Amino acid sequence: MSNFFSIEEIQGQDTALQYVRHYVKSPHMIPPLLVFYGPSSVGKWALAERFARHVLCLIGTGCGLCQSCKSFISNQHPDYIVFPANQRIAIGDDKDPAEFTVRWLQNRRLNYRPHLSKYRIILFPDASLINNEAESALLKSLEEPPAHSRFIFIVDDLTKLKQTIISRAICIPFSYLNKQVLQSLSADLELFREDFFGGSLIPYDIPSEVITLTRDMVSKNLRDSILLLQLENWIREYKDDHPEWTEDFNYTEFLELVSTIMIYEFSKENIEDNAAQIEMLYDFKNQLHKNIPGLEHFLLSELFHKFTRE
Ligand SMILES: [Zn+2]
Repeated sequence: MSNFFSIEEIQGQDTALQYVRHYVKSPHMIPPLLVFYGPSSVGKWALAERFARHVLCLIGTGCGLCQSCKSFISNQHPDYIVFPANQRIAIGDDKDPAEFTVRWLQNRRLNYRPHLSKYRIILFPDASLINNEAESALLKSLEEPPAHSRFIFIVDDLTKLKQTIISRAICIPFSYLNKQVLQSLSADLELFREDFFGGSLIPYDIPSEVITLTRDMVSKNLRDSILLLQLENWIREYKDDHPEWTEDFNYTEFLELVSTIMIYEFSKENIEDNAAQIEMLYDFKNQLHKNIPGLEHFLLSELFHKFTRE
């Protein structure tokens, strides 16, 4: 039974697993909406389902034995709602909404407490199927979510969701990268692999809105030399924009976050073609940790100078 419930069986998605392990341990930290995004058939749905089994398990471990786990085994858990993956999701009739419409969910499910477990999980295996009107209606449930309900949206591409939806979510990346690909890389990249995929991707004391914003800035500006310049300026000015750095999150950590996301973006695209940039970034991170005061700006200039020559 343990195989059926273990999140650790999901291969090659260590970044996503890092998030999921955290939330399984602390379900009260699960945000109203998690968005699993990335290429198809890489384990998004499988991980979402295993995640739900853990969170809904009455003892929180995916024990395989409790009433909740047994309901999963017989495929009829009352608090795990999976929308269809092969038809448009509509808003539904106001008075008598059809099953698996947004109004059905809101009026017939979300208004009530879960039947069996402490939480209810609502999964949209292909959130790009939610039509425009339905998406706007759902937004209300995300803005004022019932304490017991959590949503998971799966998409291959974040641009298929409204910005207002994304801004309320924690977005969890899934990638093509697998262990075989990574093992074929050079010895230098081995270090990167441990650092990045070993779990230190994003420390949880970084505010999630900073992570979302940084990810957005990096992915938009990484592939063009003019845009790279803008990215460099943005990173530079971020220091001044945030005089309220905390003890747990300072500018050095911000730079760490930026470079980690850049490594992620480069490796996602084509790890072999971008090996030079990835090594530069890895070197940058090493230098950063020497903690020489005032060195950040110099390192940053050097890094972007090298990038624009590549
Ligand atoms: Zn259980």
